[in-house]
Amino acid sequence: MTSAETTCAVCGEAAEEPNSALCGVCDRRFHLNQRNDVQGKDCGTVWIDEQYLSLRFACFNCIRPDGRPSGRGEAASGSQAEPPVGKGH
Ligand SMILES: [Zn+2]
Ligand SMILES: [Zn+2]
Repeated sequence: MTSAETTCAVCGEAAEEPNSALCGVCDRRFHLNQRNDVQGKDCGTVWIDEQYLSLRFACFNCIRPDGRPSGRGEAASGSQAEPPVGKGH
C-alpha cells in the first residue's frame, strides 16, 4: 500500500480520515466534521436515508455543481435579497 495522500474533493486541502467522509455520489473524500465538540471543516453534508436507514454522504461539489443553491426558479433581478450561505447554528 502506498501512502496516498488524501485530499478533499471540494477545497483540495488535506483531509484526514477522522475529519472527513466519502461522498456517495462521486466517491471522493471531503471534509466532514463528525463531532460536535470539535470545530471542524464541512465541505459536504450527511443525512439519514429514510428508505435504507443508513447514512448518506455528499460533498458540496455534488450537491451544487454550479456553486449556487438549488432553490425555486426565481428570476434573478440583480439585487440579492438573501444573505449568502452562512453557518448558522
Ligand atoms: Zn474540504
Ligand atoms: Zn461528491
